[in-house]
Amino acid sequence: MNKEQLLSSLEEVADPRVISAMSHVPRELFLPEPLQSRAYDDTPLPIGRGQTISAPHMVAIMCTILDLQPGMNVLEVGGGSGYHAAVMAELVRPGGQVYSVERIAGLVEAARLNLARAGVENVTVIQSDGSLGLPEHAPYDRISVAATAPSIPEPLKQQLKIEGRMVIPVGEDYQELYLVTRKNGFFAERKMGVIFVPLIGEEGFKDRN
Ligand code: SAM
Repeated sequence: MNKEQLLSSLEEVADPRVISAMSHVPRELFLPEPLQSRAYDDTPLPIGRGQTISAPHMVAIMCTILDLQPGMNVLEVGGGSGYHAAVMAELVRPGGQVYSVERIAGLVEAARLNLARAGVENVTVIQSDGSLGLPEHAPYDRISVAATAPSIPEPLKQQLKIEGRMVIPVGEDYQELYLVTRKNGFFAERKMGVIFVPLIGEEGFKDRN
C-alpha cells in the first residue's frame, strides 16, 4: 500500500481530523531502515527489543475514540517508536503537550531521535514504568495506553481529569480495548477485540525475563 491508499482505507474507522494528522506524520521515520518501504502497510512492525509499532488503523481508532483537541495535556503509556505520540501531538496543536512514557531505555532514545527527525516539538519522552502513570505532569485530559494491562491501573484513573478520557487494552490471551471516562465516577465501555504487547510493571504484568 502507498500512503494515499492507506489514508483512504482509514476513512471507514477514523475521524477526518485524525486522518489529516496522520497525513502530516511520516511513519517511515519511525521505523528501522530495512522496514521503511513497508511504512504504509496497515500492520504492526517490529521496532526492536521484542516490541512493535502499532498498525496505522489501531492508531487511527484510538485517536478517534480519544477525541483529542488543541491545547490538551496527554499521557501516552508505551511510547515505542514515538509514532503514535507524534500523531497525538499533531492533534493537540496548538498549545497541547504529549508526555510519552516508555520502559525500555533503547526505545526511549530511538523515539527521541525519530521525533526530532520528524520535527515534532510537543512530545516529551520519559523512561519509567507507565503503569504508575506520570504524576508530575497530571492531571491529563487524555491517556492513551498502547500495551495490554491485567486490569485498568488505579494510578492512571486517578491521573485523569474530570471529563477526561482514557483508551486502554485489557486482558491477556483475549484482550479488549476500553474507553474509560471520568465523570462523577469512572465509566468503562468495551470497544473491540485487540492484540497488544503486555504492559509490564508494578500495576501491569510481571516481567518474565
Ligand atoms: N505506540 C507505539 C508506537 O507508536 O510505536 C507502540 C507501542 S508498543 C505496541 C508498546 C510499548 O509499551 C512497548 O514499546 C513496550 O516496551 C512499552 N511498555 C510495556 N510496559 C510498559 C510500562 N509499564 N511502561 C512504559 N512502557 C511500557
